[in-house]
Amino acid sequence: MITVQGLTKQYISGGGWFGGPASITHAVTDISFDIPEGQTLGLVGESGCGKSTLGKTLLRLLPSTAGQVRMWGESVLELNGRPLQRFRKHMQMVFQDPYASLNPKMRVGTLVGEPLLIHEPNQGRSARKTRVLEMLDQVGLTGEAFQRFPHEFSGGQRQRIGIARAMILKPKFVVCDEPVSALDVSVQSQILNLLKDLQAAYGLTLLFISHDLRVVQFMSHEVLVMYLGRPMEQAASQTLYENPLHPYTQSLLSAIPDPKIYALGRPKREVLKGDVPSPKAPPSGCVFRTRCPIAEKQCAESVPVLREVRPGHKVACHLVE
Ligand code: ADP
Repeated sequence: MITVQGLTKQYISGGGWFGGPASITHAVTDISFDIPEGQTLGLVGESGCGKSTLGKTLLRLLPSTAGQVRMWGESVLELNGRPLQRFRKHMQMVFQDPYASLNPKMRVGTLVGEPLLIHEPNQGRSARKTRVLEMLDQVGLTGEAFQRFPHEFSGGQRQRIGIARAMILKPKFVVCDEPVSALDVSVQSQILNLLKDLQAAYGLTLLFISHDLRVVQFMSHEVLVMYLGRPMEQAASQTLYENPLHPYTQSLLSAIPDPKIYALGRPKREVLKGDVPSPKAPPSGCVFRTRCPIAEKQCAESVPVLREVRPGHKVACHLVE
């Protein structure tokens, strides 16, 4: 349903009359993947590795620098005007901080119903209210929420409001950008289960973004691991968790304090040290090489391509056979 080819996004700053020399942030470089209808692709990586940028570029919330995005075969990045608006109806986003993404001065009923007003303006007021009340019920909120303001709700309830707003148009594709990162662990699982229920009810296709591998594994059929804007490894969720091949994925997994991982018999690996290098000056060759425990000379010389090393298991590393 979603096909992404060579998607690249660079932020360019400065370079104006008084702005000094232009600097380029290589936020997303040459990312490709498919998401079959009704499935979830998890996108994982440390903070700053380009996950949000990728999600927003896919949805046309940011302009892309290069690449292709197809939804049902239609080239999303080339759409304009009415055809773009029609597509926007099918593509929605759930944000990390629901409070920041909800207008605090609007009542919940208006907030959740606003997309209907934009995309289905001919619908009458009472029909709209009925749709909003149904949606609130589906996300586990009572009709009483309709008249209240976002600040009157807890973090988990606000995320339910954010999800109701994203789902009211019955979209086909939703990007969830760190939707539970700001929530307590007990509330996290409620929201994750709600997203799964809605996925089953609507046949939703999801791109699920998180820095937390455990959350991504719970939600996703396939997982794509990113580092400094580039793909590192992609596999079915369970395969990636039980048999990670890329040194970066192995380091991410070994950083999880989960006895089950050690029970799988995997040797304990060194936890990643240092920070992600600046995407304004990414390392030559493999971008992970400066933190990689097994890097060799060739890793600085050429960029490893994401290639299939086992059926359905892709890795971008010169040293993985
Ligand atoms: P993640 O979601 O993985 O934390 P982001 O996509 O937010 O990563 O950011 C990727 C890189 O792009 C970071 O270095 C970030 O500072 C930079 N970046 C994000 N948004 C902008 C922007 N609007 N202008 C310039 N740089 C940006």
